[in-house]
Amino acid sequence: MIKDCTTVWDNCLRTIRRNVNSQSFKTWFEPIRPVRLDKNALTIQVPNKFFYEWLEEHYVSLLKMTIRQELGEKGRLEYQILMGSKRETPRPVKAINAATNGQGDINVPGAFDTGNIKNPFVIPGIKKLKIDPQLNPSYIFDNFIEGDCNRLARSAGYAISRKPGGTAFNPFVIFGDVGLGKTHLAQAIGNDVLANDSNRTVLYVSSEKFTNQIIESIKNNAVNDFVNFYQLIDVLIVDDIQFLANKQKTQEIFFHIFNQLHQNGKQIILTSDRPPKDLDGMEERLISRFKWGLSADLQAPDLETRMAILEAKMSQEGLDIPYDVIEFICYNIKNNIRELEGVLISLVAQSMLNRREIDLDLAKEVIKNFVKQMSKEITVDFIQKLVAEHFDLPVDKLKGQTRKRSIVIARQLSMYLAKNLTNKSLKAIGENFGGRDHSTVIYSCKAVQDLLDTDMIFKDTVTDLEKKIKMSLNEK
Ligand code: ADP
Ligand code: MG
Repeated sequence: MIKDCTTVWDNCLRTIRRNVNSQSFKTWFEPIRPVRLDKNALTIQVPNKFFYEWLEEHYVSLLKMTIRQELGEKGRLEYQILMGSKRETPRPVKAINAATNGQGDINVPGAFDTGNIKNPFVIPGIKKLKIDPQLNPSYIFDNFIEGDCNRLARSAGYAISRKPGGTAFNPFVIFGDVGLGKTHLAQAIGNDVLANDSNRTVLYVSSEKFTNQIIESIKNNAVNDFVNFYQLIDVLIVDDIQFLANKQKTQEIFFHIFNQLHQNGKQIILTSDRPPKDLDGMEERLISRFKWGLSADLQAPDLETRMAILEAKMSQEGLDIPYDVIEFICYNIKNNIRELEGVLISLVAQSMLNRREIDLDLAKEVIKNFVKQMSKEITVDFIQKLVAEHFDLPVDKLKGQTRKRSIVIARQLSMYLAKNLTNKSLKAIGENFGGRDHSTVIYSCKAVQDLLDTDMIFKDTVTDLEKKIKMSLNEK
């Protein structure tokens, strides 16, 4: 039987899927396309060079094994890289032979000679220029919690910090909304580079400061010195480059600096609040250079990651806050990690100032200041609506007299939730259920509690619903 590349690759994928977790599979294997099969060599196409390097570094033995399994001892895997621009045709980069170790060597250009640069910052006689990196030492990888939202950016950043200028991700553009960790990650790379080799020259600069320095240097007729100074840097981090938009002169000078650093194999790390292609007011030639390396985005963290971040923060600060409070905060602050930390700090401050215990009530008060469009209190109506939706019933049935078992349970559950999640009295809750009296509500709560104690599936349902209702604070 003659095999075609798709079949061979599909078979490989089956093996791979069993050997890696589903997130890794999705990230690293699903985007791969089989291209062709020549005798013993299967060619696969990967989206970029970073991808290829990652596969080589992390999955080389797995790939080797699966290829051998499919194509025999002589089986080989070849990569083809899909270039960033659609105009360019994919070019083959490298073959790994299943029989040898396919370590990809990356070309690191020779060190840049800084010997005869005239520059006001260099003190003659001092060989190695010491530049303050302007880094915040607390932004490190150890406290940059990993989640689906940042996995690619974080791992690329980590790879860069091991080999600044020596990977395919140069420049490395980290983009994403405010408060999602761009500055933290960019600085973590800088800090890690220095931790590995204190002789490297790292410089972190905000786009604003960079612009001001340029204006200053123009005024003092010292643009050349400015440009030369930047040539001394091994790892240049420019934060929030969207602020360079529409600043022509700054962009022009930045373009020079960029080119020279890049040519000399120096690492450039940029952050932006949007992907490079959307940087309006930025010169085309700059944007096209930003695309040379890797652009990786930071997304809003999911609930688990938010919880992990807060918990890490707490242990860092030696705080002990009840789990339900942490959960409540994380449910309600979704799109901004800085805000998440802000709530935590306010909470601690409020509890100290007012000598109050940190509990859910205090958390609710604090969070009100953070969540702009917080809906009103949780209402019985709202609970009824969610429960009815969940059981696919009209809300009326919850208020009516039907004795059908499934409806009775939904009704009792709504009362139970109303009792636990609102401040309404039993009497008021009863009235909301077609004028039932408070003893019915008590009875319902008891019935639900009994079910919760015995029925695990029911318990899961209730937990989910409770979460949904609590989460609703942030919506509307
Ligand atoms: P940005 O530059 O994208 O606006 P920052 O890097 O300033 O965001 O991050 C905001 C805050 O959130 C910082 O205090 C940072 O330490 C924290 N933070 C962001 N991402 C993470 C993460 N993955 N783990 C831990 N803390 C994080
Ligand atoms: Mg920032």
